[in-house]
Amino acid sequence: MIHNWELATGHQISVENQGAQTVVTISNTSAGQQQRSINSFNTGIWLVPPEMSILHGRGSANEPTGATLKITTSTGASLIQVRGNSIQMQSSHSGEHRSNTSTSTSFTAGMQPMQPMQPMQMGNMQMNMQPMVMKMGDMELNMGATAGKKFCTQCGTPVKSADKFCAGCGHKLES
Ligand SMILES: [Zn+2]
Repeated sequence: MIHNWELATGHQISVENQGAQTVVTISNTSAGQQQRSINSFNTGIWLVPPEMSILHGRGSANEPTGATLKITTSTGASLIQVRGNSIQMQSSHSGEHRSNTSTSTSFTAGMQPMQPMQPMQMGNMQMNMQPMVMKMGDMELNMGATAGKKFCTQCGTPVKSADKFCAGCGHKLES
């Protein structure tokens, strides 16, 4: 037994119970072309014929925007929502295994937009590029131009930290 509804001119929905599967076919006919979308849901065997509620838009044309199909089976009630060529099933019974062989159904529920990452900040570590300063908790590393340089305490000549004596005056450097 196939149930047919016409949402709008050329926009038809047919529903059929094949065993435990509810097969929903949406067909759109416009400008001589027909698009067909077939979706199959594991709802169980119908107890009563499906109920269709057509949702109307608020525009002046009052065009239908979609439909809700209520399927009542021995395992509970399922709602199949149709919007354009997209079909989604909302099952009222939880924990039930259900299969969806749809090729056009999209699932957006539960998707959260990604939070933008804080740049260069990990825990208590913070890095700034201008000037190059690295902070890690209480520790601070300054990697600017003068960082890591030593000067002779006697004459002021720049010396390397590995040097034992000043290249300028020969002063013994403290390590
Ligand atoms: Zn010196």
